[in-house]
Amino acid sequence: MDECVAWIYSHRFNAFSFGQDHPFKIQRLALTFQLCQELGLLDGKSVDLVECPPAREEDLLVFHRRDYVQALREFSQGEGGRANFMFGLGDVENPVFPGLFEWALLGCGGTLEAVRQVLDQRCRRAFNIAGGWHHAHAARASGFSYVNDAVIAIEEAVRKGRRVAYVDLDAHHGDGVQEAFYDTDRVLTISLHETGKDFFPHTGFPREMGRGQGYGYAANVPLVAHSDDLIFEQAFRRVVLPLLSAYRPDILVTQLGMDVLRTDPLTRLELTTGSVEYAARCFLHTGLPWVALGGGGYDKINVARGWSLVWAIMTGCSVPDLLPPGFNRLASSLGYHSGRLRDLPHLAHPDDFCRAQDSLERHVAFLERRLFPLHGIPSRG
Ligand SMILES: [Zn+2]
Repeated sequence: MDECVAWIYSHRFNAFSFGQDHPFKIQRLALTFQLCQELGLLDGKSVDLVECPPAREEDLLVFHRRDYVQALREFSQGEGGRANFMFGLGDVENPVFPGLFEWALLGCGGTLEAVRQVLDQRCRRAFNIAGGWHHAHAARASGFSYVNDAVIAIEEAVRKGRRVAYVDLDAHHGDGVQEAFYDTDRVLTISLHETGKDFFPHTGFPREMGRGQGYGYAANVPLVAHSDDLIFEQAFRRVVLPLLSAYRPDILVTQLGMDVLRTDPLTRLELTTGSVEYAARCFLHTGLPWVALGGGGYDKINVARGWSLVWAIMTGCSVPDLLPPGFNRLASSLGYHSGRLRDLPHLAHPDDFCRAQDSLERHVAFLERRLFPLHGIPSRG
């Protein structure tokens, strides 16, 4: 069963909602499931459909503070309206909604299950599209994230003696995960994201490289607004790939927020699905046991298209450029009219491209000078 690939999912996801006006739409999970199904990506021989198990409350205590977890549980039982701003709970960003705690336990349980699947060698790769809540802190919800599933699951791998590389490609910096492993060399965190200069969560600069034993084990490449596929490909090839080869992790965990795509309403990067497929192919080619997680993405059809393309690569299937007819009708009813599964190529305006290239050169030069030597990676001179 070495090459088995696990799809972690639950139809219970649909029971929850952040609220009508909140940009995070849980429906994107069901849309991804449906698109994968219509593309025939869920019925291959190597695909293992695994029901997403909820995490246990004590699993959360590996990272989260007990009083915060208690508040999550208590607030979740009412009809909403509870708030504790110290915990980041109950504002417009991180609303308190009925079943919030169950929602958080499910997402986290899915990621724990995905990591256990590869740790126990039941599967070679696993995808939890309901995971990737990279902004959650030990005692504070942030950026729509209540429980940091990646941190909790990676901790389990570390406890079992594994070295983990965490690569975060969401449009926002993976601050919560970086922070959790800032002092250790057992987890290498790498984040490519839209620059935090004037953008949430305002962190993720190249000088953030870890601390103490962890110095050199956090890597950040901020991309300026309007960076396109050409910029992303260079950042990935020049920073992510050499670090992964030098670090030689036992397991790869990736956060694949789809808010990097050009038409996302909350971000300003200009990537297409071409970048998503490029990154996924590179991850596959490392040959490492690979746990993929979801993340951001505020255009529902973009999310479904991006994650379906990732899943196709994880399972070694080829897919057409166009959406299957049934899903296309549904997408059309939701305002997506191009009919395409894969985006057409897109290049940023030349002025924006030059700005992005200049900025990238500066950041890569800094990392080559300061971070790469700690991993014995020769500079290009
Ligand atoms: Zn994001």
